[in-house]
Amino acid sequence: MSGSFNDENKASIETIAVHAGEYIDPATRSSSPNLVMSATFAPTAVASFSALELGGYNGHVYGRVSSPTVQQLEEKLAALDGAETCRVFASGIAAAHALIMSRLSSGDHLIFPEVTYVGTAEFARNTLPRFGVEVTFVDTADLQAVEDAIRPNTKMVWLETPANPTMKLADVEAVAALAHSKGVRDVAVDATFCSPIGMRPLELGCDFVVHSLTKYINGHGDAMGGAVLGRKDDMDKMSMEATVHYGGILSPFNAWLILRGAATLPMRMAAHEKSALEVGRFLEGHPAVKRVFYPGLESHPQHDLAKRQMKNFSGMMSFQTHEGGDAIAARMIEELKIVHYAVSLGHHRSLVCWIPSEQILRSTYLFEGDALARWNDYVGDGIFRLSVGVENGADICADLARAL
Ligand SMILES: *Cc1c(COP(=O)(O)O)cnc(C)c1O
Repeated sequence: MSGSFNDENKASIETIAVHAGEYIDPATRSSSPNLVMSATFAPTAVASFSALELGGYNGHVYGRVSSPTVQQLEEKLAALDGAETCRVFASGIAAAHALIMSRLSSGDHLIFPEVTYVGTAEFARNTLPRFGVEVTFVDTADLQAVEDAIRPNTKMVWLETPANPTMKLADVEAVAALAHSKGVRDVAVDATFCSPIGMRPLELGCDFVVHSLTKYINGHGDAMGGAVLGRKDDMDKMSMEATVHYGGILSPFNAWLILRGAATLPMRMAAHEKSALEVGRFLEGHPAVKRVFYPGLESHPQHDLAKRQMKNFSGMMSFQTHEGGDAIAARMIEELKIVHYAVSLGHHRSLVCWIPSEQILRSTYLFEGDALARWNDYVGDGIFRLSVGVENGADICADLARAL
């Protein structure tokens, strides 16, 4: 297509982010991507109503199956992650749901991290067992624990690294090699916290990557979305079931917003990292702060793994304070002028929220025995999750100082 970009010339990531999935529109000569909201498309020949019978027809038929703006985003994301194919969904959770439900059946076994984003944790704990999927929760930072959990019916190992909200890492390459050598079919990584700029899990031997596009990839806090990336044959099977039959697809409008956000991902990630390093060092030196968890700091228990595995440490960190978190959180809501006290993360503006352990343990994690001890040892009463935006680092530090 006229003005179309492909990465055969091995363009750098900054160029890929701007140009992949984009082209000069042949009809209008528009330089920026069009927003195509049409829910249906007029076929050039009489076509079947069943997606299962569309066969070789390449055009768009119905918006739930595929549509132009959504496809442009999928092409850009595939190029950013070095994937054969990408499918996007209405949210990060819709993407995780699509992958897990289309790959696992009753009687299959899933290995899941003991600490992840609450939504996926609750889905794995409360929903999957109702459908006969057995789930074992392990500390995926511990390779031996992963190995010990593998059974003959283990079909998938799920990783999330860095983990929300503890910032614990999993060694993606080592877990993928181990799982595959033991006959596990799928290794999937939720890489939302580092984005494709921080890590490209498919190149580390994984089969699938999941992102919440709501976070870094859109990056501006104004659109929700999710993505699954992987090999074409696996993804085609997943798409048929997940997009066509579960239906949690992304709106073209959100695809258009996320397409625009993703174009600046490499430079935004560099800015997030720069400010986060500054904020992390400031917090480490602050008398009110007990401990900071940021993979880019020497103090992170897995800093060596972080340096090996991550090309960018992103803007995500968590920290513990000496004084009770509730009181500080209340002051944050009152005093902060730059950082918003709010959930979500990866936006251009900084966001912070208090996550009390007691609340997490009650609502989400059914910790038993040494899992509880591991959590208390790592996190104590609770942690602040801080998503450092792209504002000036010194300004963010001065703002946080108001509440600490
Ligand atoms: C936010 C988040 C999700 C869920 O994404 P939504 O877009 O909010 O549905 C999944 N995984 C991680 C690590 C997240 O931070």
